[in-house]
Amino acid sequence: MSEREKISVLGVAFDNLTMDEAVARAWELQSAHSGAYVVTPNPEIVMACRESADVRAAVSGAALTIADGVGIIYGAKILHTPLKQRLPGIDFTVRLLERMAAEGRSVFILGGKPGVAEQAAEHLLSRFPGLRSGGVNDGYFQDSAPVVERINAAAPDLLLVCLGAPKQEQWMYANAAALDAGLLIGAGGSVDVFAGTTRRAPRLFQKLGLEWFYRLLREPWRFGRMMQLPKFLLCVIFKRDSTEK
Ligand code: UDP
Repeated sequence: MSEREKISVLGVAFDNLTMDEAVARAWELQSAHSGAYVVTPNPEIVMACRESADVRAAVSGAALTIADGVGIIYGAKILHTPLKQRLPGIDFTVRLLERMAAEGRSVFILGGKPGVAEQAAEHLLSRFPGLRSGGVNDGYFQDSAPVVERINAAAPDLLLVCLGAPKQEQWMYANAAALDAGLLIGAGGSVDVFAGTTRRAPRLFQKLGLEWFYRLLREPWRFGRMMQLPKFLLCVIFKRDSTEK
């Protein structure tokens, strides 16, 4: 299997990579200071891509598309085109930050409520000695131009874009070309986990692929959004059956 193999799950082309391969690819993109971006779609985003051409364009503009949710792994399996590994966006980001710290590279954190990105940066810098902060900005701005200017003044090696999905994918699609950054990652709620304002699911939930269930228990308002998951699975089964006929 070649490293650049793509696997389509309901029209979203995922890179079929192990964690090591995905981090190596991200490292290459960052080292080239390419300004490319990484997306980590879950079933909700795949469904959003089917419903909106704008979201679809934003997701397909990514240089690297990794399978974050366990639902994507099941979907690919049902379609008889299994992906090598589930790659939670937060674990992937941590692996890249570790490597960046060893080389003294810098990270700019964009997103979260006021104060959250500062806290996240502080925690990351003490967790990964050697890592440099390129700056922070909260995620509740009206005008992107001054934000882009701030980021460009720092020219960070990594820009974590944590505006929630699909806003962050659309923001990266619209602004990547104007940004002076090594690599961008649409990292969603990771900013809250790094800041310590949200806890990640216990390891057992993570191992069993039940991180989404833990999140639902803690944030029941997500129920409506999560109803996209059964819809996603039905679409996958329908797709498999119609291709097998
Ligand atoms: N967020 C933001 N700006 C916005 C909307 C959301 O900075 O306009 C932040 C929000 O504060 C949170 C993060 O985006 O820190 C992720 O939000 P959420 O958990 O809803 O997104 P998901 O990870 O589920 O895509």
